[in-house]
Amino acid sequence: MRSFTKFDLQYAHRFYGFKGEAQYLHGHTGVLTLEVEDSVNTGVNMVFPCNEIQKTAWDVLKNFDHALILREDDPLLPAILGVYEAQGIKNGTPQNTMKGEAFKTELATAYPDSRLVVTKETMTVEGMIKIVYDLLKDKLNIVKITFTSGVNGATEEYEAKNDIARCPLCGIALNENGVCHKCGYKA
Ligand SMILES: [Zn+2]
Ligand SMILES: [Zn+2]
Repeated sequence: MRSFTKFDLQYAHRFYGFKGEAQYLHGHTGVLTLEVEDSVNTGVNMVFPCNEIQKTAWDVLKNFDHALILREDDPLLPAILGVYEAQGIKNGTPQNTMKGEAFKTELATAYPDSRLVVTKETMTVEGMIKIVYDLLKDKLNIVKITFTSGVNGATEEYEAKNDIARCPLCGIALNENGVCHKCGYKA
C-alpha cells in the first residue's frame, strides 16, 4: 500500500537563458506530493506514519521554502550574494531561524544562511523532482513524486525498494544501529 503527503513550498527562481517570461525573477507556491510504498506494518497498521514522512522530508525541503533557487551559472547569483554581503545578511541573521540542514548533492547545494539553493540544472518542475528524489531516496521508500507549480506539473514513478527497516511499535524507520529514535525499540 502507499502513504502520501503534501508540502507547500514558496520560492523564487527564474529560467536563465530561457526565451520567455520565465527568464525574469518570479515566485511560486509549489506543491510537492511524496508517495511512499511498503507493506502495512502489522500492529501499527500504517505503511509509514505521515507525520514522520513530513518530518524526514521537511528537514531537507525547508531549504526550498521562502528561498531563492538559482542555477549555478546564473549571473544573478554573484550579484545577489554581493548585495547580501554588503547588507551583512549573507551568513545569516538571528531572525533567519526556519532553516533546513545544509546539503550538497550532484544536482543542488543548499545555503540555508542566505536562504539560497544553487542548482546544476534549471529548476523546472522536472528538475525539482530529480533533486528531491536524490535527497530523500535513502530515507524514504519513495515510489512517486509529483510537483506542481502554477500551470506546470510533472510526475515520476520509481521502483519500490521496500528495504527500510521499520519499528514494529511506531512504524518509523530504524536508524543505522537498528534503533527506533522515538520509542527506543531495538531490532
Ligand atoms: Zn517559475
Ligand atoms: Zn518505535
